[in-house]
Amino acid sequence: MSSDHRVYSYSAVLMGSPILLKLFSHDEALASRVFRLIKRYEDLLTVNRAHSQVMDINHAAGQHPVSVSRPVFELIRCAKAASLFKESAFNLAIGPLVKRWKIGFKGDSVPPAAEIAALLSITRPEDVVLDETSGSVFLAKAGMEIDLGAIAKGYIADRVRDYLRKEGTTLGLINLGGNIQTLGSPEGGWHVGLKKPFAENELIGSMTVENRSVVTSGTYERYFEQNGKRYHHILDPRTGYPLDNELDSVTILSKESIDGDIWTTLLYGMGVEKGCAALRARPDIEAIFVTKTKEVVISSMHHFRFTLLDDRYRVTDNTV
Ligand code: FAD
Ligand code: MG
Repeated sequence: MSSDHRVYSYSAVLMGSPILLKLFSHDEALASRVFRLIKRYEDLLTVNRAHSQVMDINHAAGQHPVSVSRPVFELIRCAKAASLFKESAFNLAIGPLVKRWKIGFKGDSVPPAAEIAALLSITRPEDVVLDETSGSVFLAKAGMEIDLGAIAKGYIADRVRDYLRKEGTTLGLINLGGNIQTLGSPEGGWHVGLKKPFAENELIGSMTVENRSVVTSGTYERYFEQNGKRYHHILDPRTGYPLDNELDSVTILSKESIDGDIWTTLLYGMGVEKGCAALRARPDIEAIFVTKTKEVVISSMHHFRFTLLDDRYRVTDNTV
């Protein structure tokens, strides 16, 4: 970042996450409007409180459809579509399992296998029934719960970017606890760190981006340990257990942060090889995989730069 630009940082805690806003002018009022905007979306979408529009849908599971506001309907539609991709690891109806595991919340523990099997039967995305005309959502089976934890931050990050642009801001960055969206490009681009898994404040490397979102999802963010085994918060919708593969984290670089949020989960399910193959059809979306064996695999690097800072890691760049 060039030295003639001063950066002003504003922080808050929302959605159980540290929120950071960076601006290039001192504007406390704009920062509070941005935080209020995030809060409004949190109030609509949260499943961590008794009431929100998503909770209204969940409370009415197996009973009746619930009409919701347009943004909530659109986000659920998008989440359902991602859940219906072939062999998708993303599932918006994963709620009952998330609530049962409580990973990252008080009281987390490994549920009995029989309970997991029973809960799996009420997590089918096909049972989330959308009605375009009335803008309503109906969960067909009692006990079903929508959870937008793997997509909502991406959606909200995009809305913050749009809002900043509308307010005449040309340069800004919003970080919603690991979900980053940027507006414009300071001289030299935005530098975003790639975190080293299971280490506080250590970086594997640094990404340089302009007008792009950077979303990282990792097994090290929310997890607990029981009998020497680690259980993290990204669940495999096919088994009901945390996704278990070679990955420590996946970072997505994309124009829209909602794509980044969806694709981190999709790629977690695919792993490195299948993931890189799938991304060949999506040149607008690029990924950095970090494996448990300290490999950094870059699917392609057309829209960002990566600088390795920790030489214990090996980089494979598949850019063609
Ligand atoms: P991602 O990998 O993007 O998503 C993982 C999260 O998605 C999981 O935590 C789970 O919620 C869900 N999930 C798990 N497996 C799947 C799957 N296979 N498919 C789809 N979804 C899956 N945290 C708090 O501690 N307290 C709060 O009050 C709180 N409020 C929140 C309110 C909102 C509106 C949102 C969006 C999040 C909130 N969170 C809160 C954080 C939330 O619980 C998740 O931890 C967070 O969204 C995970 O985001 P991520 O980018 O780290 O992980
Ligand atoms: Mg996600």
